[in-house]
Amino acid sequence: MSHSLVTMSYIVATILFILSLSGLSNQETARRGNYYGMLGMAVAIIATALSASVSSYVILLIALLIGGAIGARAALKVEMTQMPELVAIMHSLVGMAAVLVGYANFMDSSISLGGVEKNIHEIEIYIGILIGAVTFSGSVIAFGKLSERISGKPLLLPGRHWFNLCLLIAVIVLGGLFLHQTETGGGSVPLWIMTAIALIFGIHMVMAIGGADMPVVVSMLNSYSGWAAAATGFMLSNDLLIVTGALVGSSGAILSYIMCRAMNRNFISVIAGGFGTGSGGEAAVVEGEVQPISAEDTAQLLLDAKNIIIIPGYGMAVAQAQHTVNEITKLLREKGKKVGFGIHPVAGRMPGHMNVLLAEAKVPYDIVYEMDEINEDWAHVDVSIVIGANDIVNPSALDDPNSPIAGMPVLECWKGETTIVLKRSMASGYAGVGNPLFVLENTRMLFGDANATMQAVLKALKG
Ligand code: NDP
Repeated sequence: MSHSLVTMSYIVATILFILSLSGLSNQETARRGNYYGMLGMAVAIIATALSASVSSYVILLIALLIGGAIGARAALKVEMTQMPELVAIMHSLVGMAAVLVGYANFMDSSISLGGVEKNIHEIEIYIGILIGAVTFSGSVIAFGKLSERISGKPLLLPGRHWFNLCLLIAVIVLGGLFLHQTETGGGSVPLWIMTAIALIFGIHMVMAIGGADMPVVVSMLNSYSGWAAAATGFMLSNDLLIVTGALVGSSGAILSYIMCRAMNRNFISVIAGGFGTGSGGEAAVVEGEVQPISAEDTAQLLLDAKNIIIIPGYGMAVAQAQHTVNEITKLLREKGKKVGFGIHPVAGRMPGHMNVLLAEAKVPYDIVYEMDEINEDWAHVDVSIVIGANDIVNPSALDDPNSPIAGMPVLECWKGETTIVLKRSMASGYAGVGNPLFVLENTRMLFGDANATMQAVLKALKG
């Protein structure tokens, strides 16, 4: 394929990626956005494969087959609840790719540049490996925390900010040393040491994050993976990779900002790590009497109500209850009830998790509301149903300064007339804190798997 044709294909792919991102920003156009993304990626892969930069089609084909097979298997096998972990591990692969491309570039003796160009190329390699290594190790730890293989509790080393500062200074000093040594054909020692430091920094950064603050880390690593891809693009002189990386990097940064705002956290402290870990005191212990309720009584409460709000959380994803929830919603609306969904920005285990589930179950978009819209209106709500949510409806976020989720805005369902909470036990949520909502006067607990209990409620509503 001629150079100009490759360039043109890259421009087409770039446009498709931009259309994809804008499509993904809205539930109604998200499916179309995905198609644009797939098409863009197909154009990008074909154009790259046919470009003059490919020296061995056999190796390329083998790599495509292995990568494609692993990707297809993972996508087919993954449960909806494992999606966040899959995304985290994918980010780590982008980071690893940046590191490997960086080393390959460093060792490639066929690249003969001189003067400023040589320096720029070496800086690209250094920064590419740096971002790649942080992304890689940080994402592996995020994978561990999201899949609960690693404890969600923050690891707070004494003097951790000083530790980070020392690492940063070491990286800068080593960078200078690397540039100096490459003039005489060396540079590998500072590069290795910097890679080790970057890996340690990635691990330390994510280990220091408390469970409830993971959403910000997920979106931040998403952004890092974009910048790692852009850095790879610079090293390979591939314009499309630079543009795509920048798109992912900046959209991830915007998402991190949105998540920070949703959780009332400071963006800068996220980057420093170890933020949002409470004021250091003991979180209050929840004491009080729980009032269980049956599926039949829940159905009766719903039939007596006019205005109903449903709050889905991670447990709805685990129970795969979204289809039953949709059926109940349809039935109640047919009976003239006003039913709405209240979505917390960090509900579930990845940004937009609940929206994806509700869209899958074909819940109409116009009855799905954001937290701020719902929180203004609790005085008019007769019944709210909390389906497998916990942290996002925890009043202690507002009134216990020692709580690990202190300061995070939550859906204030207890301000409505009655709240029914569906969960299997009294276990805590992802942040590992007790929830005083469960023992409030106007709360009823409907214990059991959310799908089973929702099925029972549906049966009672029909009967
Ligand atoms: P939580 O993890 O706080 O609570 C989920 C609840 O669902 C649990 O208390 C559990 O209780 C219940 N549950 C689990 N399985 C079932 C089931 N089969 N049937 C019924 N109930 C079930 O989830 P939330 O959505 O309220 O909050 C999200 C949390 O995850 C926040 O802390 C957020 O910071 C964090 N997070 C969010 C990310 C994001 O991007 N959205 C990413 C990473 C973390 P029980 O075991 O008793 O059934």
